Amino acid sequence: MSASDVVIRPARPDDAPRVHALHTSSVRTLCAGHYSADVIEAWLSNRTPAGYLGPIERGALFVAERGGRIVGFGEAAAGTVIAVYVDPGCARQGVGTAILRHALALAHRNHDGPIRLEATVNARDFYEHSGFREIRRAPVERNHVDIPVVVMEYDAPSRAEARMLEVTLPVAVEASAVEAAQMQERVARLLPSREGHFVFESGHHGQVWLDLERLFLHPDRVRPLAEGLADRLREHRLEAVCGPLVEGAFVGLMVASSLHLPFTYSEPVRDERATGLFPVSYPIPKPLQPELHGKRVAIVNDVINAGSAVRGTLASLKQCGAQPVVVGTLAVYGPAASELAATHDVALVTLASFPSRIWEPSRCPLCANGVPLLGHAARHG
Ligand SMILES: [Zn+2]
Repeated sequence: MSASDVVIRPARPDDAPRVHALHTSSVRTLCAGHYSADVIEAWLSNRTPAGYLGPIERGALFVAERGGRIVGFGEAAAGTVIAVYVDPGCARQGVGTAILRHALALAHRNHDGPIRLEATVNARDFYEHSGFREIRRAPVERNHVDIPVVVMEYDAPSRAEARMLEVTLPVAVEASAVEAAQMQERVARLLPSREGHFVFESGHHGQVWLDLERLFLHPDRVRPLAEGLADRLREHRLEAVCGPLVEGAFVGLMVASSLHLPFTYSEPVRDERATGLFPVSYPIPKPLQPELHGKRVAIVNDVINAGSAVRGTLASLKQCGAQPVVVGTLAVYGPAASELAATHDVALVTLASFPSRIWEPSRCPLCANGVPLLGHAARHG
């Protein structure tokens, strides 16, 4: 195995769970000889897959793949290398070097002068061999625990070196990251969000609320995004689209029209006797069911948070013998959508993703702190 079979690409929102798992196991394994168990646990506490979505959205986080599997990740901003992590099973095989080289190229963009990083004690020698020098040792505080780190610096490269670094940064990566950031902006403008303490359709509690009733007030503003989504769904060789009512079906109708495909929908039915999570099912009207039998179908939605509508629609599609192959949506909030897609082995295509936390009511920290519920809203879960 060599570094040459490592492929670097920008991280996608659906990579967040894998990046989180890799980060955790890498810290536990590779740092174990240099930090006490208490320090490592404090360092890792409060981390969730959703915490990686911000840097993914900014185009700052990228992954290293080998044979289609993520074996490491890195993060950088102008002037700083923020993270270089390698799957413990792939340590000392050149993966870290490939990640660091890419991180340096990112850190040099729009930045003149030295590149800084805070190395864990165990990684110090790796960075020194890669051209960094130690500036000082200083602890950083995480979750009220001091973690010793080594501040290191990489001198500004000469013009020739800088040109070489430019070359190692694939142009396609840059273009797609910029494009992704612009799309993120456009979707965010369309989805005004409020913060508070809410109950979602799924029964989960959460902090971010969207007034999706207003999404289609001006359909012309949604249409270009729906067409962008349709373009990205094209490669899935679809035969039909299914959109959960209400706003998801509106997006689905636009996408189906754009792809010249049959359009179907599912409708929310609340089980009043249900006491657990996901009390709403999404049956497909009987007259539409034969149209879906044996077809490759995309579920198209507006926004996925806990995933109640997509989950219900997936179940109904399978019941009528359809083959759901992809979930397409304008936006996802938090990691539930990618977890749901992975569980059901369908692809996830989203134009934007935003961080968000949801909790089972019994574990909701807002409830625990006595924050009043702002509304028992029945939809958007
Ligand atoms: Zn709560």
